[in-house]
Amino acid sequence: MISDLCGYRHIMGSPLGAFLCPPGYAGPSGLRAIARESSAVVEAARLVRRTACDRVHRRDTPYAGSRPTRSLDPVVLVPGFMAGDTTLLLMSRHLRRLGYRTYRSTMHANVGCTQEASYALERRVEAITIRRERKVTIIGHSLGGLLARGIAARRPDLVDGIITMGSPMLAPGAVHPVLAFDLALVIALRRAGLGSMMGEDCTSGDCARLSWEQAQAPLASGVGFTSIFSRRDGVVDWRSCLDPAAHTVEVRTSHLGMAFDPVVLDAVAGELAQGRERRTSEVRKPARLAVVPDVSAG
Ligand SMILES: [Zn+2]
Repeated sequence: MISDLCGYRHIMGSPLGAFLCPPGYAGPSGLRAIARESSAVVEAARLVRRTACDRVHRRDTPYAGSRPTRSLDPVVLVPGFMAGDTTLLLMSRHLRRLGYRTYRSTMHANVGCTQEASYALERRVEAITIRRERKVTIIGHSLGGLLARGIAARRPDLVDGIITMGSPMLAPGAVHPVLAFDLALVIALRRAGLGSMMGEDCTSGDCARLSWEQAQAPLASGVGFTSIFSRRDGVVDWRSCLDPAAHTVEVRTSHLGMAFDPVVLDAVAGELAQGRERRTSEVRKPARLAVVPDVSAG
């Protein structure tokens, strides 16, 4: 049985709860959207060219002048749905070359319960905050951005700011049917006995509703929020990335390419640099840790 939901032909039984796609939003659909995602190959080639140019530049630059200014501010990178930390490895390397101290989320594949993932990430962020004695900036790709926003809202004592890339805050259910199919596959694997995978409750039940509410909660003043989006996004509705709480930055990149396109890397680096300037202009205060919630929740 087929109906129309979120602007595309929706096969009944889709794992995504209808409440995740408010009226007015519509996920990309059809082959043209998939074709737009194929530009990720071009964006990857752009990165290869940039990396080669940077290498030549560093080789031709005197050692003293080539060393970046070391930043002590920690940055945690969180991958998107079905992705692992390796998908943000190129971005991590780029930021390290610029002098940032980057950390993995420790997610091998972002396919688990969103509530469990959220609290596991919170523990990770808290450990880094204690170790470095300063708040972190979280960079999240797609679903990773939603997780980042949820943590930033409930733990402003840990998070200095977040930068999201292609994260559909306003309508996480407005996605291409191919992604909905992938979700259904993950749930089927859960039913088959893989208990650590995302279940129906995580995509259409209380877990999904709670995760989305957390990703919409007000942010404390002083917590920076940049949302990078692209009208060429072939996976999510780009309009759902326009969170009113965010400073928005538009790029012309595919959804997948946001993880490595040099245009996005530059945008992220620019936002981090602004955050660094903001912090150095303020009187730095030590992180005041709040009580850690029950991490087994969800
Ligand atoms: Zn769940």
